[in-house]
Amino acid sequence: MTTKVVIASRNEHKIDEMRRILDPAGLDLELVGIKEFPDLPDVDEIGPTFAANALLKARDMCAFTGLPAIADDSGLCVDALNGMPGILSARWAGGHGDDRANLELLLAQISHVATERRTAAFHCAAAIALPNGVEQVVEGIMTGRVIDSPRGDNGFGYDPIFVADGYEITTAEMDSAGKDAISHRGLAIAALVPVLSQLLS
Ligand code: IMP
Repeated sequence: MTTKVVIASRNEHKIDEMRRILDPAGLDLELVGIKEFPDLPDVDEIGPTFAANALLKARDMCAFTGLPAIADDSGLCVDALNGMPGILSARWAGGHGDDRANLELLLAQISHVATERRTAAFHCAAAIALPNGVEQVVEGIMTGRVIDSPRGDNGFGYDPIFVADGYEITTAEMDSAGKDAISHRGLAIAALVPVLSQLLS
């Protein structure tokens, strides 16, 4: 029997990325986005970690809809900034989700930092919450470095200034499949597949 699972995100890029990874996994799931629930209240991401915030979102969405819910929380941790923007990545420049302003502020903040000290990592926690109270969180990390100026038009957020270890192109210059294969979210969602398979069978 097909299980309806709701993805607790308003970010279409993220929803697409999750669908691209979960759809081919062969699980008998119908993934529905948040748009099906226009009255859904916003969840304050007040947790101290990616995992805590992913769980908050999944738990809230599950309680609101009565359906199994998947949520993620992610961000870029820059070593020269002691791991920031981290959980504040989406609102680093103040407003929520202003990708360009966030990216420019980050570049300005590390403009004096030498190339070899511009190491960074994207982190993603993916959580599932079930109506019976069962919850689980998995995580994925993509290490790399922040470059001087933006390159590439794909992806979102900090992609134009991030080059993953072993690559010369930014994640905004990769195609979707290439990014999914190595990305923090790709790894976290892939780790969620066996969990979903076990919990929903
Ligand atoms: P969230 O929606 O609270 O998980 O915030 C994620 C924020 O982290 C986004 O708004 C981006 O700024 C950044 N971010 C997370 N994942 C990525 C990615 O794959 N590429 C670029 N930026 C990302």
